Amino acid sequence: MDEKKIDISVIIPCFNEEDNIEELHQRLTAVMKTLGKEYEMIFVDDGSIDDTFNRLKRLYQSDGSVKVISFTDNFGQTAALAAGFELNRGEIVVTLDADLQVVPEDIPVLVKKINEGYDMVNGWRKKRMDSLFLRRLPSLIANKIITWISGIKLKDFGSPLKAYRRSVIKNIELYRGAHRFIPVLAGRLNINMAEIPVQHFLRTRGRSHYGLTRTFGVILDLIFLKFSKYLNHPLQFIMTGLLGEMIVKKYYINTGRKIYTIKTILSKDNETILS
Ligand code: UDP
Ligand code: MG
Repeated sequence: MDEKKIDISVIIPCFNEEDNIEELHQRLTAVMKTLGKEYEMIFVDDGSIDDTFNRLKRLYQSDGSVKVISFTDNFGQTAALAAGFELNRGEIVVTLDADLQVVPEDIPVLVKKINEGYDMVNGWRKKRMDSLFLRRLPSLIANKIITWISGIKLKDFGSPLKAYRRSVIKNIELYRGAHRFIPVLAGRLNINMAEIPVQHFLRTRGRSHYGLTRTFGVILDLIFLKFSKYLNHPLQFIMTGLLGEMIVKKYYINTGRKIYTIKTILSKDNETILS
């Protein structure tokens, strides 16, 4: 879409978040109004099987700043972000979860920091309200390893609350579990990155979609990340699994194929119903 740009786009991946949508929309609207900027909210319904889509549709009907992208299936948080990165008009792009664990009230400090001259600002969940053994500890270790591999010194790579300049999100290729590695991909663009503390809360409605299995996925992704720099000269590899990953990734890049399929887009800019 080659449309007129606006100041800020907020992208929110939603998978079975029916009970969180309304409060999030209300609070996000209040925050965005205080900024006095032109904005849009892009809710990406990642194949929800509850009432999420209907509730988003209602918001879309009553609020001109709401857009909804709905997937044919559950493709995962990274795919939802990728769709939002593709179909937005913001000069600044903010990502947020739907469950209010990170909160819209922290968006203004992120935007302020971008306007101080940073290309990407990460929201560090300083007091993280997740289980110590299942989430905080594995995440602490993963963060250290990612810093070690990438040289990028962030404390919370996996934070869902981030702000980017448009040029950053337009120049990275999201692939599979890569959303937690966005700062690493962005770091390869030699950008100015900042990290500032943000609030974190317990999920009060709905439930988390991730468990310990994610940790194993992260480890595999880490290894891939280390090697993905050598995408164009795979002769350096001996591990066939990695080679397979690279072929698949190359396939997505070369064919321009997306890691998601869109069923419907509700947008006042471009009212389209696919399928
Ligand atoms: N999410 C998604 N697709 C998925 C899993 C999660 O779009 O397959 C969304 C979810 O609705 C939420 C965000 O991604 O807005 C983070 O998910 P969750 O809260 O389950 O993760 P956690 O906070 O436990 O890491
Ligand atoms: Mg959550």
